[in-house]
Amino acid sequence: MSESYTTQMDAARRGIKTEQLVTVARKEHMDEDKLMKLVAEGKVVIPANKAHKCLDPEGIGSALKTKINVNLGVSRDCKDYDVEMEKVKEAVKLGGDAIMDLSSHGNTQPFRQKLTHECPVMVGTVPVYDAVIHYQRDLNTLTAEDFIDVVRLHAEDGVDFVTLHCGINKKTLEQIKHGRRKMNIVSRGGSLIYAWMSMTGEENPFYSHFDEILDICAEHDVTISLGDACRPGCLADATDISQVDELIRLGELTHRAWEKNVQVMIEGPGHVPLDQVAANMKIEQTICKGAPFYVLGPLVTDVAPGYDHITAAIGGAVAAMNGAAFLCYVTPAEHLALPNVEDVRNGIIASKIAAHAADIAKHLPGARDEDDAMADARRKLDWDEQFKHALDPDTAKAIRDSRLPEDDHSDTCSMCGKFCAVRSMNKALAGEMIDIL
Ligand code: SF4
Repeated sequence: MSESYTTQMDAARRGIKTEQLVTVARKEHMDEDKLMKLVAEGKVVIPANKAHKCLDPEGIGSALKTKINVNLGVSRDCKDYDVEMEKVKEAVKLGGDAIMDLSSHGNTQPFRQKLTHECPVMVGTVPVYDAVIHYQRDLNTLTAEDFIDVVRLHAEDGVDFVTLHCGINKKTLEQIKHGRRKMNIVSRGGSLIYAWMSMTGEENPFYSHFDEILDICAEHDVTISLGDACRPGCLADATDISQVDELIRLGELTHRAWEKNVQVMIEGPGHVPLDQVAANMKIEQTICKGAPFYVLGPLVTDVAPGYDHITAAIGGAVAAMNGAAFLCYVTPAEHLALPNVEDVRNGIIASKIAAHAADIAKHLPGARDEDDAMADARRKLDWDEQFKHALDPDTAKAIRDSRLPEDDHSDTCSMCGKFCAVRSMNKALAGEMIDIL
C-alpha cells in the first residue's frame, strides 16, 4: 500500500485498506468495509508492529473468532531459552494466536528480537517486568523516564502489543491500603507499580506519562493492552470497588488513545464466580465502548490448583460467549510453578476448546463446520477422518491406538466393542445382521 498512515486504526479511519486488514477480513469471512469500520471504531484491533515483518496478522474483537494468548519467557529459576523456543513452536503448531514474552531474567532483548524476526503470531510483552532487568537497578532507583524508555525499546524491537498498567494510580494506593481485599493486588506488573509508587511517593508513570506513551505506540503501531492491576485474585475480591474503579479509568484512557489513533485492548479478570462472568463482560463493553476485552481466565473457583486450565476454560467460554475477544491461556501449573512444555500444551488446548465453544455459541460464520464434519466421521466410524478434525489429533490418535479393540480394529473402539451403538445403528438401518457375540 502506498498511502501513508500511522496505525491500523488511522488507516481504517482514512479509508485505507491495509494488507493486514485484507488478510484479517479473508480469515474471518468478513466484508472488508465492515471490518474497516470496526477497526476505525476501536471495536477490533489488528496488532501489527511495522517492524514485525514475518507476522501473519490476526484481528481481535468480539465480532471475530475468539483468539488465545500463550504466556512464556525465562525467569531466574527457569532460564533455558531453548525450552522457551520449544514452547513457542508448540504454541504455533497448536493454533495459539499470540505469544507474550514475560521474560524476567538476564538479557531479554535477543529472545524478544528472535520472536519478532521469526514468529508468525502476534508478540506481546509487559515492559514493566523488563525494566528492573534491563537497567540492573533496584526498583526504587528507576525514574519515570526509565520506564517509558523500556516501552520505546520494546516498540522498536517489533512487539505488536504491550501490557501497560496505566489505570492504577495514587487513589488505588489508598483503596488497597484501607480496603478489605483478601488478595490485595495479584497482578505482577500492578504490584511492581504499586511498590514503586509506595517507595517513591510519585504517581504511576504509565498514568502520568500516558500521552508520551501514546506517541511511541502511534509511531510504531503498537497496540496497548491496558492492564488490570486490580484484577481479583480470588472469588471474594471479584467485581469490587478497586476492580471497577480501575476499569472506569481504563475507559477514560481508551478514549485518549483513540484520539491519537492508538489501538487499545482492555485486560480483565481474574478470579470471578461463574454467575458474575457475563456481567463483567457487559460492564467492560459499556464503559470502554466496545474495545476488545482480553481476559485472564476468568478462573471460576479458587480450589483447583493443578487443574486451573479447566477452571479458566469454563470461565473463558462463558466470557467469550458474552463478549470477551481474547483469552489468555492458563496452564495446570498456574499458582504452582513456571509451566513446562506439557503444561503449555494442556493450557493451549483448554483455551482453544473454550474459544471454539464460544464461537459456536456466537454463530460465527463457519464456526461449527469442523464439528459437523466430525459428526459425519463418527457416524461412518472413519477414524482417520475423526483425527483430522480433532483439535489435538496426536493425543486423540495416541489414546485410540493404545487401547484398540481385540478384534475388528478398523471398526469400533474399545469403549463398547461389539456393543458399539454407532455400528449397531448403521447395520440396523442398512438391514444387516448385527453380530454381538
Ligand atoms: S464403541 Fe462406543 S465409544 Fe466407540 S465408537 Fe462405538 S459407540 Fe462410540
